[in-house]
Amino acid sequence: LTRSEDRERATGGQAAYPGGDAPAEKVLEGLAVSGGIAVGPAYIVENGGTPVPEYVILRSEVEAEVRRLNEASTLSVRQIDKLKAKARRLPVESAEELTALLDAHRAILSGSRLLRGAEARIRDRLSNAAWAVSAEMRAVLAHFDGMQDRYLASRVRDIEEVGNRLIRNLQAEKYRAFSDLEPGSVILAEDITPADTALMDPVRVAGFAAASGGAQGHTAIMARSLGLPAVLGVGDLLAHVSPGDTVVVDGEKGLLIVNPKPATLAGYEARRRALDVDAQRLKLLTGLPSVTLCGTPVALNVNVELPRDMARAIESGADGVGLFRTEFLFMNRDDLPEEEEQYEALRRVVEAMQGRPVTIRTLDVGGEKLAPSLGRHFAEVDNPALGLRAIRLSLRRKELLATQLAAILRAGTHGPVRVLLPMVTAPAEVRTVRKAMAVVARRLERAGVAVPDPLPPIGAMIEVPAAAIAAAPLAACADFFAIGTNDLTMYTLAADRADDQVASYYDPMHPAVLRLLAMAVDAAAGEGIPVSICGEIAGDPALTPLLLGLGLRDLSMAPSSLLSVRRVVRDTRITQARAFAQVVLAQSESAQVHALIAAGPAEVASAA
Ligand code: PEP
Ligand code: MG
Repeated sequence: LTRSEDRERATGGQAAYPGGDAPAEKVLEGLAVSGGIAVGPAYIVENGGTPVPEYVILRSEVEAEVRRLNEASTLSVRQIDKLKAKARRLPVESAEELTALLDAHRAILSGSRLLRGAEARIRDRLSNAAWAVSAEMRAVLAHFDGMQDRYLASRVRDIEEVGNRLIRNLQAEKYRAFSDLEPGSVILAEDITPADTALMDPVRVAGFAAASGGAQGHTAIMARSLGLPAVLGVGDLLAHVSPGDTVVVDGEKGLLIVNPKPATLAGYEARRRALDVDAQRLKLLTGLPSVTLCGTPVALNVNVELPRDMARAIESGADGVGLFRTEFLFMNRDDLPEEEEQYEALRRVVEAMQGRPVTIRTLDVGGEKLAPSLGRHFAEVDNPALGLRAIRLSLRRKELLATQLAAILRAGTHGPVRVLLPMVTAPAEVRTVRKAMAVVARRLERAGVAVPDPLPPIGAMIEVPAAAIAAAPLAACADFFAIGTNDLTMYTLAADRADDQVASYYDPMHPAVLRLLAMAVDAAAGEGIPVSICGEIAGDPALTPLLLGLGLRDLSMAPSSLLSVRRVVRDTRITQARAFAQVVLAQSESAQVHALIAAGPAEVASAA
């Protein structure tokens, strides 16, 4: 076996070209993060084959460029370590082979000629980092060219793979536009950031898959919001696919199929037709009220990431926008949006909702959602999710908050808005923002600019365990709660929502998360303030009876989920849902919770 053939076997695929012209079908496993089926030509992002820009940097930029090279190297090491962790789950022989290969790659990243040479090119020739790596890689390859030794030949391949990985990681900083795609393409990459997804046009992009990423990370959320089938955490996927290969993204089962056989394709066509039939059936619910069988109305709102998503929000028949994530206005650019630009974007959203309320969240960058213009706040920390994220950054950079509040207040004259604060841990944060909003309102009024009267309600995200555990004092000073189970799950279980390696630990149905959720709902009821849920579980119809049973009457989700949740709401009886929630809350293990949810409230009631 050659090494590449062995690697196909190691990852569960078949040999690439088993003696014929047609490339063999390969089935790669990952996490199903956004449903649906996409079939199309593979578009590989920043693979080694794409052109590397060459430019001369200033002498004053040398240290920063070397730092970028080192950061790309650190990221590459991390990626390789992740692949090694995955390799351990393979059959012993394959695991050993793949581990040895990855160890060789790792060794290249610790002080090899490739890195030393690239650094020298940055320092001596003032080359940009990506070009320095590419030029050094070519120099090393030229040195080995023509040598017949098999060992050296495989070393050369290793250097090439590592060099391309470094270049991919260096290039990833540039805002990749996906505008030159063949319509219907499937984007494949080592890593797809939330900012990348913001550049995807569903007309050109049929779906995407990446080697890394977890089910509740913002990349996954964006995929659902755009209605794009997506699979993340597909290990070493770039080693198995070439540009233009036909690929299938099976967002239902979490599979990426490279060069599918005709029979496989036919199976997926049939599946796609079945999904279409269900979508047509769901459409019949458009315009119907979201009311339970016993007559309880339930507000179904949408989460919105980009103003351009508003068409889907309106089409879905939402009661309002339960969460507008403003951070996407800050991505894919090197500067900060001015008040006027933010106002225009928010005004469009508010006007589009025609009088239905829009909950606008203040900036929530940090963690995996990075805005380059604020990058210096995040670059050096080990645990960005525990760092200067969200409201903490807004309170540190007061001008950021003031600009956002001014834009929100101005947008609030075009329709009802609410202000939502992310990652709150203490009542003082809410009080500080309230004071800041009053100051901004006075400033605007003095300048003759209209603001809403009364000023918009200010709410707290309940997404950190501290906020749920000490929810009563927060409920006393906030005007409403919005429960963010995506982060609440991450922080409660200490499992990164965007890391496929700990995906099995990340479970919003863990009894600890459910109890925190119940505590937040009870605290809101105690103070008589509204409470909603805008974490991804709000859009899972299998969980709707449980959420209603816990007392929630306001759910906010991706527009694509709204009708299937409405279908369940209209089929639910609150008394039965409440009894079901009590049984679920009494469980001590996630597995029991999942079993109850699979059984459903009716079965649990009849068994009781
Ligand atoms: C959450 O954490 O549940 C949430 C809704 O916010 P985001 O997903 O944007 O972090
Ligand atoms: Mg959150």
